[in-house]
Amino acid sequence: MTSEGKVKYIKVVLNLPLNQSFAYKVPAEVSSRVKIGGKVLAPFKRKILSGFVVDKIEREQSRGNLKEIIKVMKDFPPLSNSFIELGKWISDYYYCSLGQALHSIFPIQETFRIQRSKESERKTSAGQKFGKLSSRVGKNNESVFFLKEKGVFLFKTEDNEKRKSLYLPLIKKTLERERQVILIVPEISYLPILEELIHSYYEGEIAILHSRLSSKQRYEEWCKISRGEVWLAIGTRSAVFAPFSRLGLIIVEEEENSAYKQIEVPRYHLRDVAIKRAEIEDFSVVLFTASPSLESWHRAKRGIYKFVEFSRNDSKSRQVRVIDMRKEKDRIFSLTLEEEIEKNLEEDNPVLLFFNRRGFANFLLCHECGKVPRCPNCDISLTLHLNGKLTCHYCGYEEKAPRVCPSCRGSYVRGVGLGTEQLEIEVKKKFPKACVRRGDLDIINSSLLYKKLRSDLIEKKIDILVGTQLIIREEILSCIGLVGIILADGLLNLPDFRAGEYLFQLLTKIKRLMKPQGRLIIQTYNPTHYTIEALAGKEENFYEREAQIRKDLEYPPYLHWVRILLEGKIKTKVEETAEVLREKIEREGIEFLGPAPCPFAKIKGKYRYHLVLKDKNLSSIRQILEKKLNPLFSGIQGVRAVVDVDPLRTM
Ligand SMILES: [Zn+2]
Ligand SMILES: [Zn+2]
Repeated sequence: MTSEGKVKYIKVVLNLPLNQSFAYKVPAEVSSRVKIGGKVLAPFKRKILSGFVVDKIEREQSRGNLKEIIKVMKDFPPLSNSFIELGKWISDYYYCSLGQALHSIFPIQETFRIQRSKESERKTSAGQKFGKLSSRVGKNNESVFFLKEKGVFLFKTEDNEKRKSLYLPLIKKTLERERQVILIVPEISYLPILEELIHSYYEGEIAILHSRLSSKQRYEEWCKISRGEVWLAIGTRSAVFAPFSRLGLIIVEEEENSAYKQIEVPRYHLRDVAIKRAEIEDFSVVLFTASPSLESWHRAKRGIYKFVEFSRNDSKSRQVRVIDMRKEKDRIFSLTLEEEIEKNLEEDNPVLLFFNRRGFANFLLCHECGKVPRCPNCDISLTLHLNGKLTCHYCGYEEKAPRVCPSCRGSYVRGVGLGTEQLEIEVKKKFPKACVRRGDLDIINSSLLYKKLRSDLIEKKIDILVGTQLIIREEILSCIGLVGIILADGLLNLPDFRAGEYLFQLLTKIKRLMKPQGRLIIQTYNPTHYTIEALAGKEENFYEREAQIRKDLEYPPYLHWVRILLEGKIKTKVEETAEVLREKIEREGIEFLGPAPCPFAKIKGKYRYHLVLKDKNLSSIRQILEKKLNPLFSGIQGVRAVVDVDPLRTM
């Protein structure tokens, strides 16, 4: 073998939606610094872009008019082979370019001067820093037992305290084996509690990774991890890319949470990326859940995940009561809920009244029998429009809103669309002496207002809190003894096939997080719906029934869905494009839904239409996208096409 020759040319992938690499000349003086996976700056059209080196060419070739790279970013250690492999998988599976995938694995743009931690500190092994934990962990070894085998585990427990006592031994055991750990949570708000919990047992440093870090902080954490100075990282979605070289375990908290699906390119799902990374680097993944996603439930049933259920520690279970609103004649609060609120106010116990976000999509509800008209093809709720029409947002089916209920012939058929502000007014009227507060977007987005809300709750300065999904958080619910769901039908009838699953998971979460001995009162016009019945009874019934419906209607997890969203300022143009796509797809002989307007038919001045391709096999959809549709996407002026593989929200 000859010694390594000089690199003459490199191939680079850029952060652009172009699935190809570009060749550049390498100036002789930087040739030795060019590495596969390394970051470079390169000219592209009239811009300078960052890119990753994916190939080196050493032999002399006449490559006349190639441009030279501008800079080799020597402060960035090159991406490991396993990250490049993971990037290739993301690019392939989620239909984005390799450049986009690699840039999301390594999102750092600039470097900073970072002080290294002292040498002496690094000598103690991470496992030993768990000294104080032994007393608690010693007794609770059930979780560790399962890690004797490798694989993906789905740990189900409804007990909030217990699940935490399961993490710690898992982390300890892995660190003792000289392997590193990543613990991932759905939202930033979970991090402080978790950090505090782990720190009370673990003396070592913890890297914290989330989207609100400054570039300097991000770089700092990244350096500490890649230098092996930190062995444990906790964070949100992107923490899955923490550059540990000896990773031994990824723990995912609340695997069913939809925040794990990235909205922007690459539109990956954290769970699947974590599992892929584990496969490449050969370690285990533990998914925690109280109510698994249908996807995970399905995989556990088929033995792809190892399913382990842990029983509750606390016997004080929260009570669930379902109120049939058909018998309550136009009331917002049923008599039962009213009495319970009064009782809690007397006992100085804060109450939470839940209402889902203001009805953007109204639906038609028969107040006598509780039925909501659904699409005959897709079984999702039809959306009521101002022109008196009901439409299906999957297939485009349309009908005139009936005056009498098709189900019971009753004539009390109305649209539903009460909002939180209106609810707040009603609550104040009904309970004039109570201190009522609204937990809305403004409060959640401001850390100052949010802190005030929490301290007021703890100091019992709030009697009734009115809010949406946004305030369903551990810190808030742990102060609450009574939760009233004003109208479960609002969530049950979202125009999305996962509506039932979301409602089930949300209410299970409320049940899990509220005070022990608390009460959950669910008001609904549809008390016999299997989702509602399973909440108060046997959970497994929900999964079995839901799975059957998904199977019959060819919904995920039984088929893959790929959603194509079209957006544009001119409505007719978007519609025309949708039609062109429809014709193309029809010729391919693949199953699809639409085109239909999205439930959010217009956002920020842009009209939105979507189509859904369905197949057991993603590769056949990918071929159609690649060969037939992609050329179309780039050719349409004024219309943007977004491809979402395994979409979670279809609104
Ligand atoms: Zn009816
Ligand atoms: Zn339909």
